[in-house]
Amino acid sequence: MSIVLGVDLGASKVRVALSDLNGKILLKKSERTTGTTGIDIVNQIVEMSRNTLSSLGLTDESLKAVGVGSIGPLDLKKGLIVNPPNLRVGVIPIVEGIEKHFNVPVRLLNDCVAAVLGEKRFGAGRNLENIVYVTISTGIGGGAIVDGHLLLGKDGNAHEVGHIVVDKDGLIECGCGKRGHWEAYCSGSGMVKYAGLLLKEWGVDPNKSSLKKYFQEDFSKATSKILFDAAKEGDALALRIIEKTGLLNAIGFANIINAYDPELITVGGSVALFNSELILDPVKKNVSKYAMNRLPEITITPLGEDVVLYGALAAALEQVV
Ligand SMILES: [Zn+2]
Repeated sequence: MSIVLGVDLGASKVRVALSDLNGKILLKKSERTTGTTGIDIVNQIVEMSRNTLSSLGLTDESLKAVGVGSIGPLDLKKGLIVNPPNLRVGVIPIVEGIEKHFNVPVRLLNDCVAAVLGEKRFGAGRNLENIVYVTISTGIGGGAIVDGHLLLGKDGNAHEVGHIVVDKDGLIECGCGKRGHWEAYCSGSGMVKYAGLLLKEWGVDPNKSSLKKYFQEDFSKATSKILFDAAKEGDALALRIIEKTGLLNAIGFANIINAYDPELITVGGSVALFNSELILDPVKKNVSKYAMNRLPEITITPLGEDVVLYGALAAALEQVV
């Protein structure tokens, strides 16, 4: 039997899946990402893959190709993950490391780039030529297919849409060190910082507000989940914060629409998946104020948390003739 392997390498979790050549997933496995060096990470992936193969009663010979969707930044030419800020293990020689163990072609892609490939092959983007995938989670990222071509960029880090500027005053510093970026205001941790800024601007002490019961009168304990939960219970202040965050999300989406002219934008990432209406409604309401191009369909990815994994499988399948 011939099969391919997909790997989704995240900062906190590594996931692998084996599929047949039609892309039917046979087995999935997920573990916490562990290890202190890049080689440790490679070994963990190889070990997980071997275990998954053997639990299906298969040997290494069945494996025809590997696709990896990974956190960045990447050096695609050298097949490396280079000092990922959220996984402090230095350089991960992922392509060479996996190739050495399995002796099959390995294709490395940024996780969101993989995701858009997964969307086209397995998800909402089948039969479409212009698709953008956006993730809203610990960060904000994107992947784009334009005229059927997967956009990569010189290092494979094209369309870092999370670092689009949405605040010219740059009141919040982004994790990348620059100011005013979309991700700094609207990612999971970003929106808490933005909420703090808004409450100050509105002259509201969060620890004396209607929100206080959600974080035990200690705003430093607030999370995006707490803000969304409060909004779902109808807390007016939380809803106002979500509305303002949604406006910045609409600006981010409009920039994407103006740059790539997609037919479809699918949205994933934990913040979006768990709060789909509160994320998408303000975007749909406001995006036309900023977008010049004809609006695309904007929807939550039907592939859910597996979107990157499906993308990694799609990347692997493209290497099997
Ligand atoms: Zn940034």
